Amino acid sequence: MIDQINQLLPQTQCGQCSFPGCRPYAEAIVAGLADINQCPPGGDEGIRDLANLLGVPVKAFNTQFGIQKPPSVAFIIEQDCIGCVKCIAACPVDAIVGAAKFMHTVIAPECTGCELCLAPCPVDCIVMKPLPDNNAEQSRTQKSALAKRRYEARCLRKEREEAEKAERAKSKRQALLKIQAAKK
Ligand code: SF4
Ligand code: SF4
Ligand code: SF4
Repeated sequence: MIDQINQLLPQTQCGQCSFPGCRPYAEAIVAGLADINQCPPGGDEGIRDLANLLGVPVKAFNTQFGIQKPPSVAFIIEQDCIGCVKCIAACPVDAIVGAAKFMHTVIAPECTGCELCLAPCPVDCIVMKPLPDNNAEQSRTQKSALAKRRYEARCLRKEREEAEKAERAKSKRQALLKIQAAKK
């Protein structure tokens, strides 16, 4: 059931539902800790889908969790970007490309409009724009499936990077121990 609920969520991982991502929200619904009307990106359509799946009445969206907005996409004012990479670290779907001290840019078709990159930008050079027409053609299901794939790929990449970091630290420790032993 958690998986089925998660499939219906927008996968922006924006946290507006008060849980740290879509799957934790799905888990909370199943555990009876959250209601079906807490996801602003999913909006009324999302509430209907959840109500149908769970066999419960449709509810009005709970505005305590935010407001429903038209689909949007992040845009970086490139001439103002200082290349601090903070937005890359914040994007849950790896929709921003760039390198330290170089200009960054958003891959618009991959951006879910979650707005998580706005606050970390120290120079406020990221703005939200209405979703271009070519992106609007994608269905809600296609968009959430793409976002889910990209989010899961990012989680795997981060896990791999953490494991590699731990392995490097271990090798360094072992090398130091060998040097210390050779000195004795
Ligand atoms: S998209 Fe909806 S369910 Fe997912 S984190 Fe945002 S508010 Fe929560
Ligand atoms: S670019 Fe910004 S708004 Fe778009 S998905 Fe990434 S964090 Fe969210
Ligand atoms: S957070 Fe802002 S300044 Fe830093 S790399 Fe991203 S867009 Fe550029």
